[in-house]
Amino acid sequence: DVADLPGVPEWLPDHLRDDGIEELYPPQAEAVEAGVTEGENLVASIPTASGKTLIAELAMLSSVARGGKALYIVPLRALASEKQADFEEFEQYGLDIGVSTGNYESEGGWLADKDIVVATSEKVDSLVRNDAPWIEDLTCVVTDEVHLVDDGERGPTLEVTLAKLRRLNPDLQTVALSATIGNAEALATWLDAGLVDSDWRPIDLQKGVHYGQALHLEDGSQQRLSVQNNEKQTAAIVRDTLEDDGSTLVFVNSRRNAEAAAGRLANTVRPHLTAEERDQLADIAEEIRDVSDTETSDDLADAVADGAAFHHAGLSRGHRELVEDAFRDRLVKVVCATPTLAAGVNTPSRRVVVRDWRRYDGSAGGMAPLSVLEVHQMMGRAGRPGLDPYGEAVLIASSHDEVDELFERYVWADPEPVRSKLAAEPALRTHILATVASGFARSREGLLEFLEQTLYASQTDDSGQLERVVDDVLTYLQRNDFLEIEGGELDATSLGHTVSRLYLDPMSAAEIVDGLRDWERGASDSTSASGSPADAPAEPPADSGFTTASELAEDADGSDDADADPDDISALGLYHLVSRTPDMYQLYLRSGDREEYEMELFEREDELLGPTPSEFEEGRFEDWLSALKTARLLEDWATEVDEATITERYGVGPGDIRGKVETAQWLLGAAESLASEVDLDAARAISEARIRVEHGVREELVDLAGVRGVGRKRARRLFQAGITDRAQLRDADKSVVLAALRGRRKTAENVLENAGHRDPSMEGVEPAADVSVDLD
Ligand code: ADP
Repeated sequence: DVADLPGVPEWLPDHLRDDGIEELYPPQAEAVEAGVTEGENLVASIPTASGKTLIAELAMLSSVARGGKALYIVPLRALASEKQADFEEFEQYGLDIGVSTGNYESEGGWLADKDIVVATSEKVDSLVRNDAPWIEDLTCVVTDEVHLVDDGERGPTLEVTLAKLRRLNPDLQTVALSATIGNAEALATWLDAGLVDSDWRPIDLQKGVHYGQALHLEDGSQQRLSVQNNEKQTAAIVRDTLEDDGSTLVFVNSRRNAEAAAGRLANTVRPHLTAEERDQLADIAEEIRDVSDTETSDDLADAVADGAAFHHAGLSRGHRELVEDAFRDRLVKVVCATPTLAAGVNTPSRRVVVRDWRRYDGSAGGMAPLSVLEVHQMMGRAGRPGLDPYGEAVLIASSHDEVDELFERYVWADPEPVRSKLAAEPALRTHILATVASGFARSREGLLEFLEQTLYASQTDDSGQLERVVDDVLTYLQRNDFLEIEGGELDATSLGHTVSRLYLDPMSAAEIVDGLRDWERGASDSTSASGSPADAPAEPPADSGFTTASELAEDADGSDDADADPDDISALGLYHLVSRTPDMYQLYLRSGDREEYEMELFEREDELLGPTPSEFEEGRFEDWLSALKTARLLEDWATEVDEATITERYGVGPGDIRGKVETAQWLLGAAESLASEVDLDAARAISEARIRVEHGVREELVDLAGVRGVGRKRARRLFQAGITDRAQLRDADKSVVLAALRGRRKTAENVLENAGHRDPSMEGVEPAADVSVDLD
């Protein structure tokens, strides 16, 4: 009973009852028995939708009630806002909630007063690197989806970050929440924690496989579920669910497939909608169109008007929220999603269809089956407690033999064990530098001892493997002047400290420094040298390493600065430079693209920083071209090409443009710091390229677009009306501003107020007749 919880704040039982929670679910009760409200460490491995969030809340609230401070680590930025909304419910009892994602260089001082902080593991890692003083005040850390330590790209950060937090605060309560996995006890051993390992679910789940005219269920029964002429299996299942007044979540393996499937399934849903539902859906479709005017937005709105939707990481936050809400309100009857949704957005439905159980995997060179863990997480979204009698999760078989295969592979299978991915060079390169720079280790032995606290160390029998990779990484970091090793002592150089605080992969930093240096050298050579850098031999220099900072500084001092005009660096060159670092997720080069970007490279090679790799170096040349494609997207954005054209030209969603822009902003900011760290005179050019990409405008609009509420389109309209900067806006004739903003009074008042206009009121003002702005 929620009245009998030790250690929780006194308002909690009533609060829970108001939310319809009278009793704990059995795994939650086990967690309380294991002391989660009394400061004990805990690993909880329980199925999706079985109440993990409440376990987290019990831990955090009781810790805060004892005068402490809690941190909740989310696996995805997209989930931070969802958790924020959950936890903000507690603000009525005087708690302060803070959310921190993005912006890796700050120490987040404003978070010092918060009782509960929500952040991604990358953000927490960066806060530790920047010595955020409040980190030491933490008394409780909860990590959601801890099984993601198995993820090759992001897992090591989570692992190392937990190890650091626990070293900084030896009394820290650690609570790790996981989907059901094969080796939960290994995680518990690693974290020195009690274990709740349960497969209890609040609502029954029937798993099954559909083939032909039947749904085969795991209890051995069969339901007739017939496919009509010309109908796909998925459509038949969606229709069958609709006839029973239920909704369906369909998981597919790519964004494109999600969009295509939603478009098709709209035809299935349409005839089942009531007139009232159609009206409400039409309103939501309008809201979707208002979020952005791109093809994705249009396609989504069209599907939603018919009661279907797609959901993937290429959608903007606004789109995602509208879809999730409409699905929860049962207006949208089917959502076709890529697996991101399964990772935690709480959108249960009567039925789940796992349509694709293979997806493209670059490292496998083709289609590879999904893990049992992932498929079970998707399946776990079936069934809404209190609303449905039970949930059904269905895999689609395309042949009779496949029915058996899918039962073996997924329905009856246990999820895989989770394995640490730490002992890989890219991961250790970053984390070893940060560990040394923040003083967690001062010698090779200290470093190995620190790494002993990771999951990796607790899982391996071959400690030699870790030592070997550590030694390789130390050599690399030393050679590039990020670290100094003297008499067994490890020390970060000034450059190394900067790189660690900037949250850069050291390899990105080396690429940036090297590229800038090449540009400076090229610029100072260009008067005397014949031939462009493209004619130079393409092999890397003999020492194949990157130049050291001290060499660089010498270079900078020794060369005649007058020859290297920093204003000559083109924005494209800088966008390309940051796009080729391992910290930028480059655009994929499609087969038809190669020729186009080779042409582009031929025409604009002079603008790129550093020598183009030879075409015979397949991998590097390919990367160079992908980086060029990515850089061209950024350049388009920064020259005011409209969003719809960009999404079409590069085959991306609006959310992807945002993502690339944010990464570029961060990396260019870092490049600015690096340039001044190694005395390169390029900071101004970099800063301008950064601001242009931030606002998506040409140079002349940078000032205007920086006014809150203005943005790229309005800045251009104002500029066309003769208002060219912030100062002019402040003193502008209101009728001109109103005309430029197409008679939108509210917007005009807002903009004028933000620009500091004396009297922003638009009352009685009429749009000036002689101002014509017509961009669209
Ligand atoms: P998970 O994080 O495990 O996927 P959630 O924590 O989101 O699952 O819980 C799923 C749903 O169950 C939420 O809507 C939550 O309010 C509800 N819930 C959690 N615990 C209880 C409980 N003890 N009694 C009733 N409902 C609960």
